[in-house]
Amino acid sequence: MLHVDLDAFFASVEILDDPSLAGKPVCVGGAGARGVIASASYEARRYGVHSAMPSVIALRMCPDLIILPGRFERYEVYSRRFHDIINDLTPNYEPLGLDEAFCDLRSLRRLSVAPLEAAARLRGRIGDELGLLSGVGLGRNKLFAKLASKRSKPRVVNGGLVEGPGVVWVSRDLESAWLEELPVRALWGVGPATAAKLEKLGLRYVRDLALVDESTLAHHVGPAMAASLSAYAKGEDFREVVAQREVKSVGHDQTFARSLEGVDAVLEAMKVHAAVVARALRGQSRVARTFTVIVRFDDRTSVSRSQTLAFGLDDEVGIAAIAGALVQSMELHNLVRLLALHASSFLERSRNAMQLTFAIDTVTPDTRNRAVEVGRDRQVGHEALRDAVDEIRRRFGRTSVGTASELREDGVTIVTQRGSHAFGPEQTP
Ligand SMILES: [Mg+2]
Repeated sequence: MLHVDLDAFFASVEILDDPSLAGKPVCVGGAGARGVIASASYEARRYGVHSAMPSVIALRMCPDLIILPGRFERYEVYSRRFHDIINDLTPNYEPLGLDEAFCDLRSLRRLSVAPLEAAARLRGRIGDELGLLSGVGLGRNKLFAKLASKRSKPRVVNGGLVEGPGVVWVSRDLESAWLEELPVRALWGVGPATAAKLEKLGLRYVRDLALVDESTLAHHVGPAMAASLSAYAKGEDFREVVAQREVKSVGHDQTFARSLEGVDAVLEAMKVHAAVVARALRGQSRVARTFTVIVRFDDRTSVSRSQTLAFGLDDEVGIAAIAGALVQSMELHNLVRLLALHASSFLERSRNAMQLTFAIDTVTPDTRNRAVEVGRDRQVGHEALRDAVDEIRRRFGRTSVGTASELREDGVTIVTQRGSHAFGPEQTP
């Protein structure tokens, strides 16, 4: 098994696109009061900054920290090229997020490719063709491959950066030594809550787990977790590579710098969500039949509503209409802190037989005179309008034309950071 993981992925892409950032402490994340670091360059990590850290704390640790808003579409371009390179090694790979993958190398035996050589070549191609650094781990199963790739990475020691070996192989005779010193928290699926439960039982290291039988563990952490933990303690991991898992949903989540008050404000924000999701769907040539709206309130309670249609949608007007109806079916009992819209149950666009026609009341030309002009009350095929807007954007830029809900004082704003929940809001209120 091989596990490959790109180093500081989002931050590295930003540095590639703007070389003046090289050598500086750079993060991608939300710079606002509720912002969170999504990816930190190694220079930033020297100050103790890491992903998932609130930006406020990161800035305290490193006052010169540069926090950039994310550009998901750019990362997806790199991610696709990363997956293409992996696919050349073996089609039997399982992507995890945008920047990690497991590869089952068993099929390479027949080609007599040595695993270490394959790993070095993979890392070399990622470096040469994408300009990105990565770490590769090899082991008998996912457990060891993942642990090994982690060990292959650069490390911060006393505020200085120590280069990693790049490729690490845990051979069979090294396995027990690796497990011996491994804390349970480093295991797959063991979060802080499980780790705390295990610690209460005096189980801090993986070697400690081997001393307890599975049924005792099950009593404390549930049967599924107990089974995995007992297996890991013996160095066993039966998870197979699930090749090229299909994307099952696309969505947009946003935590607001200032919580929204009232249904009108939520409906207005939802139009922007609909536009982001619609663009993502069209980018994948898909239409979605199921739409889910999730609202989280200031009192930390949440509510969600879902609707499945008989046909698929990939346009902002239709999606905003469905999402808006879902919002209106909710009782908004408090200020809205987070709003999410997810689309799922995909069909290929070409197989979506339903043609929708909307009455367009007024479409005024935008300030830059580049918009399509459509007469008042004229019926237009909505697909034609949507395709025209996409074409205008392709030719004249993403902000050349937009819906009224995307219009701000300084022109059309396009949300670029899809899934901004990983980043937090863009500005402080
Ligand atoms: Mg990574």
